[in-house]
Amino acid sequence: MNIHEYQAKELLEKYGVAVPKGIPAMSVDEAVKAAESMPGPLYVVKSQIHAGGRGAGHFTNNPEGKGGVRLCKTSEEVRDAAQAMMGNTLVTIQTGPEGKEVQRLYVTDGVDIEKEYYCSVVLDRNTSRVTFMVSTEGGMDIEEVAENTPEKITHVDIDPATGMSGFHARKLAFALGLEGGALKSSVTFFMSLYKAFVELDAAIVEINPMIVTDKNEVMALDAKMTFDENALFRQKMVAEMRDETEENDAEREATDWDLSYVAMDGNIGCMVNGAGLAMATMDIIKLYGGEPANFLDVGGGATAERVTAAFKIILSDDNVQGILVNIFGGIMKCDVIAEGVIAAAKEVDLSVPLVVRLEGTNVEKGKELMANSGLPIIAADDLDDAARKVVDATQKAQKAA
Ligand code: ADP
Ligand code: MG
Repeated sequence: MNIHEYQAKELLEKYGVAVPKGIPAMSVDEAVKAAESMPGPLYVVKSQIHAGGRGAGHFTNNPEGKGGVRLCKTSEEVRDAAQAMMGNTLVTIQTGPEGKEVQRLYVTDGVDIEKEYYCSVVLDRNTSRVTFMVSTEGGMDIEEVAENTPEKITHVDIDPATGMSGFHARKLAFALGLEGGALKSSVTFFMSLYKAFVELDAAIVEINPMIVTDKNEVMALDAKMTFDENALFRQKMVAEMRDETEENDAEREATDWDLSYVAMDGNIGCMVNGAGLAMATMDIIKLYGGEPANFLDVGGGATAERVTAAFKIILSDDNVQGILVNIFGGIMKCDVIAEGVIAAAKEVDLSVPLVVRLEGTNVEKGKELMANSGLPIIAADDLDDAARKVVDATQKAQKAA
């Protein structure tokens, strides 16, 4: 789960990470009021969307105009900036061409920047450790730095069993060439960041840029945080920060039904039980020359209602031109799946080819239900057969369209 910059900074500040003073605003007037309550002489108005690259982005209603982060000197300028942002669609390298509508703003104190750096904390599943990444190339697109000048990124691994010590923090600071006050301030910064990362069950904390001010203080000028959703039950404060309007409609609907769904770019919708089987199904679709439209794991204890919901979610994606249902009925019985599939196909007036492969408990009953449903369901015997059939049927449907 992602949160907004202003929320991330609110959390990080509680852990002692220095951030510029800022106030979130839900309207243009609130943004002006926020600026008027701040000392000045510089204000920064920042569009709050779940995507980075805002500063270099553009608004669809004014492609030649300024981006989603603007420096202002007066409250009139703050009003102009807020008006240009609020309710408009911001396109950045991270939003995709359709962009994201700005519904919240953040007004912060302008800070005198001596130098910008990059800093992130991630969970490295390969080493089972927490990894800090820092670079002197701050404020830039870090993927580009990693690609062209990987030597400019320093990694420091921390074993969560023993935690972070001053030695780790100093190693990071030295890699950035920090000295004196900045070095001291950065040690506090890194240690606080680590504590926040671990205690909040974060998956990613990215500070780009982390800056050194003219007073040699280290601060987070931007902040992105992503959280492990499996831990949200014990992170009430974080869970409450969820902004559903930022989420993909289908993914949000899936969360409500407790389904694991991830939208992808292809045209073959998949409904599978078990994450491993879902991955294998996607692989085999690709092997036969198709492209999966989604990952969807209906889990073990699905009911006919949940299968129907899953079906609707798959079909809400306009790119879907064929569907493969691949279920191993163990805990979940094949006839229940069949009932769900039939109910859903009837309800949504299914117009794309549907291939179903069922195996396991009550498989005969399931197959019988589908054969007698009067629906043009293509039955498959095994995974190979199913993948071949769905790729075939989808290609034919595509040509006919
Ligand atoms: P994004 O990464 O989405 O473009 P940032 O928060 O990183 O947004 O802001 C972009 C740039 O704007 C920063 O690299 C920095 O140069 C400038 N900036 C952001 N906040 C401030 C601030 N409080 N004071 C001065 N400059 C700022
Ligand atoms: Mg940034």
